Amino acid sequence: MQTFQTSPEMPELSVVIPVYNEEAVLDVLIERVVGASAALFDKRFELILVNDGSRDGSWEAICRHADRDPRVVGLNLSRNHGHQLALTAGLCHARGAVVFVLDADLQDPPELLGPMLAKLREGYDVVYGQRTKRHGETAFKRGTAALFYRLLRTMIATDIPPDTGDFRLMTRRVVDQLNAMPERYRFIRGMVSFVGFRQAAFPYERDARYAGETSYPLGKMIAFALDAVTSFSVVPLRFASHLGLLFGISGLLALSWIVWASLRGATVEGWASLAALILIMGSVQLMVLGIFGEYIGRMYMEAKRRPLFIVSDIRSQAGAVGGAADSPVARMEEKLHEAFRAAS
Ligand code: UDP
Ligand code: MG
Repeated sequence: MQTFQTSPEMPELSVVIPVYNEEAVLDVLIERVVGASAALFDKRFELILVNDGSRDGSWEAICRHADRDPRVVGLNLSRNHGHQLALTAGLCHARGAVVFVLDADLQDPPELLGPMLAKLREGYDVVYGQRTKRHGETAFKRGTAALFYRLLRTMIATDIPPDTGDFRLMTRRVVDQLNAMPERYRFIRGMVSFVGFRQAAFPYERDARYAGETSYPLGKMIAFALDAVTSFSVVPLRFASHLGLLFGISGLLALSWIVWASLRGATVEGWASLAALILIMGSVQLMVLGIFGEYIGRMYMEAKRRPLFIVSDIRSQAGAVGGAADSPVARMEEKLHEAFRAAS
């Protein structure tokens, strides 16, 4: 069983990478990340690979590297938790003064660590990658992503920059703030914007996936967009009252026309218009109820206060994985580990 004692020697950099079915990429990924990090930090960094319930040999590959290189730490989640929660698990365990987040599929080049760090040292707390070009992604994905970020910006007060992912470099105080947010529906790039401090964009060209295929098909993309909107905006709820107002005014107009028509004795049977009205009103009401339901459902899930992620194994030579031990998210997880240790 692994311990959670924090090593007296804290790394200066933590690299956090969520991994889901990325077996084909891992060797090259680790080689490139370790190369880029060692060039700047030598031994004073850790690479945390969070295996998010992969069904291929990703975890075995991570273990192989962790056994060979003391700077590599493997974190195995008990099942697939989803990209954002896997990332959360990694951020909770990261101990570095600076934290670098990237995707496993090498779409975000690890070699940009150097230039991004130089930017950070100009006095920023967050340097986020902003895509100027996206290689190897379908026009549909690019189009929907562009539309989504622009739509999102019209709905929320927090200034979330467009064309960004989770590829970014953050200082310890930003990561501590993220770890202190206990919410379950996590749209991490938005949460980073919410934290504030000084943030700078770093334009880069997003490469094509090195191998394998995206784990964000249309359904997951829509769910992700819904998480983003509902966790940052109540505009859809307000939409209900706007719609009510609109229909109220049109109803009054219709009423005056009806009174005028009946005074002239020109009323017709009007079955079609009546049926159409009932249908429209019915569907609008159901849609508004659906929006309410979406928010209420999320409140229900949040109210349960379940742990955000469950770690089943930690593979590290140092056995020193602790991270932000006093953050609410880490505390929740630590309690679970105590129960797990007691039981085994
Ligand atoms: N990922 C994860 N859990 C999931 C889905 C994805 O940890 O359930 C990881 C995946 O391994 C990758 C990152 O999240 O490192 C982004 O996923 P992907 O490349 O499939 O998304 P895309 O770049 O196509 O939006
Ligand atoms: Mg990708």
